Amino acid sequence: MSIQKTKYIWMNGKFLSWDEAKIHVLTHALHYGSGVFEGIRCYNTIKGPAIFRLQDHIKRLFNSARKCLIEIPYPENKICEVIVELIKLNKLKECYIRPIVFRGYGEMGLNPQNNPVEVAVIVWGWGAYLGDESLKKGVKTMVSSYRRTPSNVLPSHIKATACYLNSILAKLEALNHGYDEAIMLNQKGFVAEGPGENIFLVKNGVIYTPPAYSDILLGITRDSILKIAENLEYEVKEVDITVEMLYNADEAFFTGTATEVVPICEVDGRKIGDGKPGPITLKLQKEYLDIVRGKKAEYEAWLTYI
Ligand code: PMP
Repeated sequence: MSIQKTKYIWMNGKFLSWDEAKIHVLTHALHYGSGVFEGIRCYNTIKGPAIFRLQDHIKRLFNSARKCLIEIPYPENKICEVIVELIKLNKLKECYIRPIVFRGYGEMGLNPQNNPVEVAVIVWGWGAYLGDESLKKGVKTMVSSYRRTPSNVLPSHIKATACYLNSILAKLEALNHGYDEAIMLNQKGFVAEGPGENIFLVKNGVIYTPPAYSDILLGITRDSILKIAENLEYEVKEVDITVEMLYNADEAFFTGTATEVVPICEVDGRKIGDGKPGPITLKLQKEYLDIVRGKKAEYEAWLTYI
């Protein structure tokens, strides 16, 4: 789906028109992937538009930058204010929010220290990441031949632009084989995550997800689902997951800001459970979608109203 243009983009301290927000072809990040970013969503609620877990996303952005030795020339609260203002200016009720911090045009070569740090925020309407039907019907997946980059090669646990070539290769492989999405293993051969999603499975009523040390991004949706599942009194285990456990699961699902909560119906041609979205997946999906749309008072602290 092509990007739905909006009126304004915030870039390096200014609100610019969409078409004005351009970069030079010698931008360091374009050549060497020296950037970090976030993906956040704003949902319409009965009390108006609200951003889901904004401060947590911005904390992760600053943490990603710190790991890459990039100093963001604004404080965290300024970026939060800019996002709220940009959504207002663009008169959006629901949108995807993409803050990006990157090394700009300065010098060429692998030492980025003399290249300016540029910051932009873009907001636009973006529907279901894995397709409109994905939330209801689920998706078909394959275990990728691409392993997730181990943290001592590229830090998978931060949102660095450079890490995403690994994800793109896995995604294209899955699409070229006729699947909707890939599942990536880590170097040890345990299930890690999707190219842009965390993964969960359900067996005998217990919910499983790979632990933090398994070369995964610590997704904010993953964290939300862990808290929601505990509040609903499910037993949750963060343990190493083998491909065999995945094949034998009763249910499986992906989580992510763009993806939301999407059932996985098939892995490598094997049906998960009866091949239809499972009851626990659908319960967690409903709870999540109710929370982001402000229908659950006990989760209000996760919402920043515009
Ligand atoms: N893993 C990867 C590799 C991702 O790119 C994303 C999307 N940000 C996720 C997991 C899910 O993270 P979140 O729930 O914070 O969007």
